[in-house]
Amino acid sequence: MKIENLTKTSKIHTCNVYLVTDDTHHKGKNTLVDVGKDPLVINKLRNISKNLNRKFRLDQVIITHDHYDHSYILPEIVKEFNPKVYAYSPIVRGIKAIEILKNNQYIKLGEKYFIASQAHAHSEDSIFLYSQAAGILFTGDVNFRLRIPTGEYSKKFLQNLKTISKQNVKTIFPGHGEPVFDNCNPILLRTLTNVTQSAIIA
Ligand SMILES: [Zn+2]
Repeated sequence: MKIENLTKTSKIHTCNVYLVTDDTHHKGKNTLVDVGKDPLVINKLRNISKNLNRKFRLDQVIITHDHYDHSYILPEIVKEFNPKVYAYSPIVRGIKAIEILKNNQYIKLGEKYFIASQAHAHSEDSIFLYSQAAGILFTGDVNFRLRIPTGEYSKKFLQNLKTISKQNVKTIFPGHGEPVFDNCNPILLRTLTNVTQSAIIA
């Protein structure tokens, strides 16, 4: 599985836009995790097509949540590449042709299966994606890296944290900032401790 952040060099405010492809047998699902708000993403996908000498097959887009910095250019992406769109919200940026994610639904990214779970944090429609096989966690804007006890969290989010911190997480890909390649489990356990010591609401 290859994961590339297409907005790494972006000059405008946008989320990370991860292109996930299958670098083994190329039969997996070419996936964008979020589309962000920088048209640069479209140019990068066009460049991939140029290098391939054919139109790049974008199988699907998964929107972690419908905030503008994550979903803004969805209409343009759909118009040009016609991917299936997965999100927890039934309509994102006016796009109705949506596969609505169910809680704990399996979905293939590249050649690996991930579980999409409703986060119960950050926003009503926030999801996170986890692959046990790859040890990879896509968090969207859900804060899995809480450094001190602060804020309010739902019981369901606390439960999610307990579940995920028992996994052998090798890499965290957040919606903003750099990926975390080391010490993911200690980070998750510290977050769990800090959330436990914060305000827990129903
Ligand atoms: Zn964001």
